[in-house]
Formats: sequence, structure tokens, C-alpha cells
Amino acid sequence: MTTYRIRIFGDPVLRQQAKEVTELDGALARLVATMHETMYEAAGLGLAAPQVGVQKRLFTYDIGDGPVVMVNPQVVEESGEWSYEEGCLSIPGLSFEIVRPKLVTIRGLDLDGNEVVLEGDELLGRVFLHELDHLDGTLMLDRLDPDTRKLALKAIREQDLRAIAGERVGSQQRL
Ligand code: ZN
Repeated sequence: MTTYRIRIFGDPVLRQQAKEVTELDGALARLVATMHETMYEAAGLGLAAPQVGVQKRLFTYDIGDGPVVMVNPQVVEESGEWSYEEGCLSIPGLSFEIVRPKLVTIRGLDLDGNEVVLEGDELLGRVFLHELDHLDGTLMLDRLDPDTRKLALKAIREQDLRAIAGERVGSQQRL
């Protein structure tokens, strides 16, 4: 099975705004299949296209019920608050307690172009919001308070993220 190389913090593609998907074709289906393989190989719960260098608005996830893809996803509704220790496949070795909405409803397309509405509570809601951020060039570091962010950037500078990208560091879930 082919997999993609996961882009690591510092790669400019992670900071760019991804573009709407306009063609739901065989090439997109192949991209999604390879993203699923990449996500499983990296033991991630979710993976957004920009994380494999593709500037398209789609992400995949699997929180234990099989692989799902959402194309051109957008938030319909969000409510509540939930604190969770987030990790990111593109920022290996680091994880942070981040508060975000608890219940999240998103709308998007499946690979056949059907509209799909999904509701995610707690972990699934967190996966949605984390992956949606990737589509806008936003990383979990941007969700930290300024002091924590400063410490995080220092930690990133002091370690070789590329070297530890393949290791399973800590027990946090990576998105
Ligand atoms: Zn991530």
C-alpha cells in the first residue's frame, strides 16, 4: 500500500488555505484511499489533506467505527465546551489541553457527491474541529494561550520533529 509523507510543522503547506473540491472523480477517490492508509500507518484518528501536501478541503477520520471522509466540510452548529489533550500528526511529540466546543455538527459531501450531515460529541467533535482548522491553515498551537504557545514553540525549536515523527510518543491521540 502506498502512503503519503505527513507534512511536519514548518512546512508552508500547513499554513495555507485549502481550496474547495470541485471534481469528485477517481483521482479524488484514490487520494482518499491513500489518506486512509497514511492515517492508519501513523496511528492517527484523523488526517486533513493539507497534512499530506494536498491543498483541498477534505479530511478523513476513524475513531473506531471505520474510515469516513468529509469533502468540503463546514460547521453547521456547535455548542458547549470540552477540554481534551490534543495531539497532531504534524506536530509529533507534543500535546496540549485545549478547550473547544463539545457538540459539533458539520455538513459536507461524501465521495458520491451526496450531502452528509454528521454530529460529533466530545472526541468526534474534537476531530471535526481539529481537521477543519487544518483546512484553514490553523494549527492547534494557534488555539493555545500566548504563554503556553511560547513554551510550545520553544519545545518545538529544541527538538527535531522530523526525527521523532515516526515514533509513538506519549499516549495522546493524534489528529
Ligand atoms: Zn493535526
